[in-house]
Amino acid sequence: MAKGIWIYADHAEGKLRKVSLEILSEARRLADKAGEEVAAVLLGSGVAGLAQTLGYYGADKVYLAEHDILKDYRVEPYSKVIADLISQNQPSIFLLGANINGRDLAPRVAARVKTGLAGDCTTLCINDQGLLQINRPVYAGKAYVDVVCPEARPQMATIRPNVMPLNAPDEAHKAEVINITPQVADMAIGVQIKEIVKDVSGMVDLTEADTIISGGRGMKGAENFAILEELAVLLKAAVGASRAAVDSGWRDQRFQVGQTGRVVSPKLYIACGISGAIQHLAGMRTSKVIVAINKDTEAPIFNIANYSIVGDLFKVVPVLTKEFKEKLSG
Ligand SMILES: Cc1cc2nc3c(=O)[nH]c(=O)nc-3n(C[C@H](O)[C@H](O)[C@H](O)COP(=O)(O)OP(=O)(O)OC[C@H]3O[C@@H](n4cnc5c(N)ncnc54)[C@H](O)[C@@H]3O)c2cc1C
Repeated sequence: MAKGIWIYADHAEGKLRKVSLEILSEARRLADKAGEEVAAVLLGSGVAGLAQTLGYYGADKVYLAEHDILKDYRVEPYSKVIADLISQNQPSIFLLGANINGRDLAPRVAARVKTGLAGDCTTLCINDQGLLQINRPVYAGKAYVDVVCPEARPQMATIRPNVMPLNAPDEAHKAEVINITPQVADMAIGVQIKEIVKDVSGMVDLTEADTIISGGRGMKGAENFAILEELAVLLKAAVGASRAAVDSGWRDQRFQVGQTGRVVSPKLYIACGISGAIQHLAGMRTSKVIVAINKDTEAPIFNIANYSIVGDLFKVVPVLTKEFKEKLSG
């Protein structure tokens, strides 16, 4: 019988991704209710040191696969190693973060082990039938749907970053590390990584940021994003953009929030000069607190905003920056 709740431990530059610790925290909560065990799957090269942290956040076991071929994330060897592990151990549930790697990896693993996959989930529970029941937005966030996977195992889901609360790390909780030998040496791998070019902008990653300040067509030009960047530095925030701002060439596409951009769920989202089209809301409506600055009282963004500021953003944003500067320096 399938047993145990597993998570995929994504990492970069020697650190676990925040979303992996969030889903591990959620897995721990579900496991405590269901009387199950939590395991994390950790792949890479020279990553054994991360296993301890996984223990602190609730993993009872860490399946550790180290190999030169696994040094950098590539979907072919990663999906094979994970699918082999699942076939051998038959977990009941397998959760991944809905970040770039998780979205790439999850469907490949699901196809290899012949199970279903619910993507981009925002809440999870174990229902009265003992099944994992996930809730996810559909139709660009206009509706939510409950999904269960009654027969195939494991029950798989990717979870949106920043929606699950992090557990406080418990340094007394140690994980048993199970070293596995990945069968990847003979694999034909189509992707070779020649070089990894790091983002040197120093800006906070959009999908993991606690605070995002986004600008839309109301910014009126690329140079005016400097006022958002100044506020962002103060608040340790990332700067996002609407598609109108991206299509105008004011920001790079990787900063676009929305249906055809990034899906984000920060603690605070500040929308500046963004009307609130349904395709933009699809990417940010699960943010905890939404502040909208717009000079049009009828702008649809105000329908979902927790705090609505009606005014000219070129007057409002500098006032916010000045106030935060004073408060934070105090
Ligand atoms: C298939 C499809 C996919 C799409 N995907 C996305 C997506 O991923 N992300 C996305 O954002 N959009 C997406 N769009 C586009 C979307 O429909 C909207 O066109 C876009 O979001 C509008 O961007 P905006 O709000 O910046 O511009 P506008 O709708 O033009 O709004 C500008 C706002 O700025 C306000 N404003 C102007 N000057 C000021 C000022 N000085 N101070 C304060 N407020 C001011 C105006 O009142 C207005 O409300 C998609 C569309 C389609 C069809």
